[in-house]
Amino acid sequence: MRIAMVSEHASPLAALGGVDAGGQNVHVSALSRALAARGHAVSVYTRRDDPALPDRVALCPGVEVVHVTAGPLARVPKDELLPHMPEFAEELAALWRPAPPDVVHSHFWMSGLAALDGVRALGPGVPHPPVMHTYHALGSVKRRHQGDADTSPAERAWLEPMVGRRVDTVIATCEDETRELQALGIPRAKITVVPCGVDLANFSASGPAETPGAAHRLLSVGRLVPRKGVDVVIRALAALRDAGFDDVELEVVGGPQGASEAEPLSGDPEARRLATLADELGVADRVHFRGQVPQQRMPALLRSADAVVCTPWYEPFGIVPLESMACGTPVVVAAVGGLADSVVDGVTGLHVPPRDPEALASALLRLCEDPQLRSALGAAGRLRVEAGYTWERVAARTEAAYELAVGQSLADVRRLEGVAL
Ligand code: UDP
Repeated sequence: MRIAMVSEHASPLAALGGVDAGGQNVHVSALSRALAARGHAVSVYTRRDDPALPDRVALCPGVEVVHVTAGPLARVPKDELLPHMPEFAEELAALWRPAPPDVVHSHFWMSGLAALDGVRALGPGVPHPPVMHTYHALGSVKRRHQGDADTSPAERAWLEPMVGRRVDTVIATCEDETRELQALGIPRAKITVVPCGVDLANFSASGPAETPGAAHRLLSVGRLVPRKGVDVVIRALAALRDAGFDDVELEVVGGPQGASEAEPLSGDPEARRLATLADELGVADRVHFRGQVPQQRMPALLRSADAVVCTPWYEPFGIVPLESMACGTPVVVAAVGGLADSVVDGVTGLHVPPRDPEALASALLRLCEDPQLRSALGAAGRLRVEAGYTWERVAARTEAAYELAVGQSLADVRRLEGVAL
């Protein structure tokens, strides 16, 4: 198949760890590569945010990134991109019209709008490919948790559910999301669940590991935004210290664009907030802000930790726990969203309630004190990702969803044309 991925803000070429570059970028990139390995030709359409970017960049055999000009040729926060989606859609239609793709797969609600409008703008006499959609995050959930701090445009409240109703198939990444989608009026029959994956060749239990600077090391990895709950981990670290367990360090990976290990805090409000909290709680010397770390250096970091901690307020999927399990490192997760599906409590990691530093500290104490439990959880985690979360498997399941939608849309066309099926 010729597959058009539409990912307006999340480019496979972006550096990870910034406010708007994380799991979606990894997902689009890895899924596209895995689909290409199955023989498909994939084009990823993303917004041109730098005038120096070429029109097309080959990512690997079978995958190209196409830069679409829509809006300023500069980085724009994703929540400010809505006014540029009509132009994005027109550009897509112009690029597709000479030879439309077999299937379109959009990522994030704004890409969904652009994909649907792009297909509609192809006009008559040209085959219209089915549109598949992955939300990555839902505005309704974000608003519930973030309230007025949510910077999404107001239109998201009605446009986002409309995308789900208009596309051919919604690809949800976890069971919790299917419930949220149904609450938005998207029929269950239209939703298929395919989780995210992990690159098992890169993330494995064997290989070099960093040397920790304390007897125990905890690790937090992700975009440095409040909802990731890194403050909960810092509070748990202080609780561990109060319980007399104080030879523990916390590495915080991720941060503002342009941040480096040498200067990770440069002007970022969330990094400053977390550093101030660590200072107030008297654990500043044990919290190390590492800034953005490239993917290839992530396995050595993950292997070096006693536990990887992910305690967000909510989480549409959460790739970091998969990466940790793939490296044989146990994870402690808030039992929310995709984390409740991917991490099996007491088997491949430990669940804690969200926003509960005391419960987190107890779970971490259990792990730090019990090396056997750590290795048992780590080994089971590896088996779990091998069985269900390889990108090859994710691509095969996504391909099956595409085939179903393509077959269905062909059948619809024939029915409209009055051809007997
Ligand atoms: N990541 C990275 N470097 C960083 C921070 C994050 O490579 O400095 C990667 C991380 O390894 C994972 C992704 O970004 O692959 C984050 O994905 P996740 O689904 O956990 O979080 P999201 O960004 O979607 O909220």
